[in-house]
Amino acid sequence: MIDARIIKELKQTLGAERVLDSPVDRVAYSYDATWAEALPDVVVLPLSTAEVSATLRIAHRERIAVVPRGAASGLSGGAVPIMGGICLCLTRMNRILEINPEELVAVVQPGVVNMDLQQAVGRYGLFFPPDPASWDMATLGGNVAENAGGPRCLKYGVTKDYVLGLEVVLADGSVMRTGGRTIKNVTGYDLTGLIIGSEGTLGVVTEITLKLLPKPAARSTVLAIFDHIEAACQAVNRVITSGVLPLTTELMDGDCIRAVQRQRDYGLPEDADAVLLIDVEGWPEALQREVDLVQAACEAAGARAVHCAHGEAEAERLWAARRAISPALAELGDKLGEDIAVPRSRIPEMVMRIRAIGRKFDLRTPIFGHIGDGNLHPYLICDRSDAAMMARVRQAAEEIFLAAIELGGTLSGEHGIGLAKRDYLERALDPVARAQMLRLKRLFDPHNILNPGKLFAETETASAP
Ligand SMILES: Cc1cc2nc3c(=O)[nH]c(=O)nc-3n(C[C@H](O)[C@H](O)[C@H](O)COP(=O)(O)OP(=O)(O)OC[C@H]3O[C@@H](n4cnc5c(N)ncnc54)[C@H](O)[C@@H]3O)c2cc1C
Repeated sequence: MIDARIIKELKQTLGAERVLDSPVDRVAYSYDATWAEALPDVVVLPLSTAEVSATLRIAHRERIAVVPRGAASGLSGGAVPIMGGICLCLTRMNRILEINPEELVAVVQPGVVNMDLQQAVGRYGLFFPPDPASWDMATLGGNVAENAGGPRCLKYGVTKDYVLGLEVVLADGSVMRTGGRTIKNVTGYDLTGLIIGSEGTLGVVTEITLKLLPKPAARSTVLAIFDHIEAACQAVNRVITSGVLPLTTELMDGDCIRAVQRQRDYGLPEDADAVLLIDVEGWPEALQREVDLVQAACEAAGARAVHCAHGEAEAERLWAARRAISPALAELGDKLGEDIAVPRSRIPEMVMRIRAIGRKFDLRTPIFGHIGDGNLHPYLICDRSDAAMMARVRQAAEEIFLAAIELGGTLSGEHGIGLAKRDYLERALDPVARAQMLRLKRLFDPHNILNPGKLFAETETASAP
């Protein structure tokens, strides 16, 4: 528990109204979107880089854990303060500092919500490609810290592809600027890249310079219906090798289809084993040609039917079904949502492995995901009050992770490692690379105050002597 003297110093530094230590406030900041929970000793709500820096100077001097936090929509336990200490919540640093349509650049504070930036740049005919499904709540600081992705990352890449520069407060309170605002920049080591995806363990992001793109003129949505999920997976490869790089290729299996249809009729076929939602975008003149190629590729892969949405309302209805998956699956019971990625050619095998693991452990395993970029989200439906079932869930999750690694894939496509997967990191990383990561952690954070226990076990990153 933090000494009352330190809380008093924090209140004097930031103002008492932005330093919260009542039991109710501590509970409100004790969890994220996982099942993990732990109370911070105190919650600090900075308004500026100077206040973040002042907080870290105190924490560094006193060796207090600091857990950066955005909207706490994280799915790997990253924002949960498992060692107590300071919850450094950045949501009040939520100003868009600049939008420059000529340079295609935006500069933002970390607490800006992804959707707010999308809406602001949309007024200039621009867009910011990374679009996590949590875009209406997740902050850009959280997106950077997790290197977030989303449906349209197949075509455009992930958050790291759109970050030109950062301002980062380091563990001792010093302020580091990395990168810049040019597309090309090979001046020194890529520290911007190092901070992206570091899950709040190397520094606190306080300003982000982002690359924007002009908004494409038109978009079409294709729904392809399959009696066999393997055919749906193979269709994606056929679409891409036919010369079309779709904006999105979203897979929903039969369980997901029936779960969303139970909530509302989205017009999806409940007897299908899988559907694909494939969007293409570009100039209207070229779009019909791309839709034709997508249709031909899906039919060649064995689609039962392929349908191009008529107008925006129908496309929106289909996408609403996709967005409804996660809440709809919650109706089936408790759910452990997973996130793995494999090379695209191994997707059919990975999907079959997940289904076999489900059968082996007698668990329902609905599957959806961004599939075109190899990213799948198998869910394990369970009952958290049933200890025997939860033991099977843990074993099934482990087998899914190991299958992904065996197929040349990775433990996490976009949700990060955090607390949830840190015990598997050793099996997923080259040992020399892992050792270098630990050295970097000790270099950046010698007293192990920044988000301790995330990515690596606390014992591995324990304080330097
Ligand atoms: C319904 C739902 C759908 C989702 N869909 C997607 C998806 O499609 N794609 C995807 O990638 N993710 C998705 N997520 C996961 C989550 O939204 C993302 O990981 C998001 O980037 C987290 O942002 P946040 O602001 O909520 O961060 P938090 O959860 O608050 O924090 C996440 C991590 O970032 C660190 N952090 C936060 N801010 C900073 C900062 N300023 N400096 C340093 N470290 C920081 C925290 O310490 C923590 O480790 C989804 C989550 C939900 C609940």
